Formats: sequence, structure tokens, C-alpha cells
Amino acid sequence: MMRRMTTQLARADFASIPRYASDAAVEVNLSDNTNLWGTPPAALAALSVAAAGGAAAYPSLYGEALKEAVAQTHGVPAECVVTGNGSDDVLDCALRAFASTGDIVAHPNPTFVMLPVFARINGLRPVAVPLNASYEMDADALLATGARIIYLCTPNNPTGTSTPPEVVLRIIAEAPGLVIIDEAYAEFSRMEGVLRLAPSLERVLVCRTMSKAYGLAGLRAGFGVGSRAIVEAVERSRGPYKLSALAERAAVAAMVDDADWVRTHAADAVANRTRLEAALRELGFAPLPSDTNFVCVPTPRATEIATFARGRGLAIRAFNDLPQIGPALRITAGPWPLMERILDVVRDLG
Ligand SMILES: *Cc1c(COP(=O)(O)O)cnc(C)c1O
Repeated sequence: MMRRMTTQLARADFASIPRYASDAAVEVNLSDNTNLWGTPPAALAALSVAAAGGAAAYPSLYGEALKEAVAQTHGVPAECVVTGNGSDDVLDCALRAFASTGDIVAHPNPTFVMLPVFARINGLRPVAVPLNASYEMDADALLATGARIIYLCTPNNPTGTSTPPEVVLRIIAEAPGLVIIDEAYAEFSRMEGVLRLAPSLERVLVCRTMSKAYGLAGLRAGFGVGSRAIVEAVERSRGPYKLSALAERAAVAAMVDDADWVRTHAADAVANRTRLEAALRELGFAPLPSDTNFVCVPTPRATEIATFARGRGLAIRAFNDLPQIGPALRITAGPWPLMERILDVVRDLG
């Protein structure tokens, strides 16, 4: 029998596409920017009710109940909402729906690490555009790429920094194609974001997630808001049944019944992040100005500190060499005793 190399069956350009690595398997995970206060109680209750009903039936086609909850919460029409298996899924589907093989997707750098990966998975060409000196999106440079799709992330991951809405609106006004605005950290931000405006802007998709402030990362739920035409195109790309029945029930409960819980703990995250920043400054660090539930701390000792923290059961994210920033740590804000443990790590390392 002829022997074949199975590796050659995959698309040639897949050889360079990485699998994601995370530090989740530790006692305390401060590396994924999830909600360290846990899951909203109403979502937990909805989960057990839904689970008791079994899982033999398919979920809703396009997440209609979550669309209604988003419409109610944000004052946008339900038909202007697309749901997904995490906002990752919405981003991936949108790239596929609005660009063809070889088209350019412009994105800030550094930004959400998965974005250029999703672009390449879909046969597109990611073009990285450095953030400006204030760690904001560089409107002129992004527009100059002439990209089919411009991706913006504000507040941005991993810097934590925000770009003012007037800059975002200018990019939208002048972009030749679709503008995707990733607002994964909007609930922590001092700035309003542009989600509410998205249905009336013709070339915009604003993405939000249930994985961060909403405490539902384990269930995978996210959504996007845009005009009806934009949403319809993303849904063709998405296909039916992408949002599981349990995820949809929990997401709706969190949004409709536990808005106060979510708001309270988002405020706690911001307060503790601010306190952590002050303590880090006292220890000689210069954290970037964050508008999120995490802080980005440039330090040549990023890897050393993260490794030492890991030995104490704490995961924080170390970046070897962020563009314009160099080696840095990204630390998720959580209940204060956890922040104390990170500060102890830094103090004990000396
Ligand atoms: C965490 C994160 C996401 C992913 O959200 P999911 O809904 O869990 O897929 C998207 N964008 C940014 C910038 C993030 O930090």
C-alpha cells in the first residue's frame, strides 16, 4: 500500500498558522482578562434550568433570544444583531463575508493576537499598522493601506488603551470598505463606544463578547451590531446553530436579569486595576494607561516575573517583544487578595 504524508493534505499556508496557547491550567488565571468574580448568579440559575431540560434538541437558528436581549439592553433593532460562538466567531465570519482570498485586512499593532490569525485562516492578507505614540489607533496609517477591511480594537488588547470615538468615526467615514470595531472591553471603559450608532452607519460591525465583564467565557457567546445588510452577510457566513442552547440561555439571563451584578463587578475590576497600577508605580514600573480590566506593564523582566508567579499558582501573560513597547506583562484585575499575591511576587523577586 502506498504511504501518504497526511501533513500534505492540509492547505499549504496552514503550516504557518499557530495553535493558541494559554496558561489556564493554574490555580488562579490572571492571564485571560475573564471575570474573576465569577459567573452572574442569574446565568448560573438559567444554566441549571436549561440543563434539566436536556440537550437533545438543536438551539435557536441565529440566537434570536440573545438578539432580543441585546436590542433591549443597547437600544438597537434586534435585526441589526448577529450572535456567535464567542465574538471570535463573529470576527471570523465577518472577515470571510466581506473579503475574498488575497484581500488586505488592516489592523493595529499590537492588538488582539487572533485577528491576523483569523485573517490568514480565511486566505486574507493581514497588514499590521503600529499604534501611535499615545497607543491609539493611527487613523491616517490605517486608511492609507486601502484595506478591504479595517479592524479596530478599543479599548485595545493587550495595551489596554482607548482610542477616542471621534478618531473611530473618522476612520469609518473615510474607509473604502468594512470597519470592524472590537469593543470586547467596553464595559470597563470611560468612553462610550459606537455600538449604538452601528445600525445607522453603513459600513460598520461592532463586536462585543460575553467572555469578559459578563463572566461567561466557558460558554462561548458573543455578538455584533451593524446595519441589517451587514448582519445578513455575516449570518450567511456564520450558518445556523452556532450559539449553543445553554450559552444562549445564560447570556440572556446575564444581560437581562444580572445587569447590576455585571456593572458592579466591572466597577470593582476598574477600582482594583487602578489600585494595582498605583502599587506597581511605587515599585518602579510604568504601566500603560488602561481603560480595561487589565493592565499592561512594560518590563524587561516580563518572562522572569511570569515564571516566578506560575510557581505560586498564578498565571499572568508575558509578551516577549510587543511592537513599540518591548517585553511586557498583562495582568487581569480581580478581587484585591489576588492583586496582593501578584504584588508579593514582584516584591519577593526583588
Ligand atoms: C477576549 C477577546 C475577544 C474574544 O472574545 P470571545 O467572545 O471569548 O471569543 C475578542 N476580542 C478581544 C480584543 C478580546 O480581548
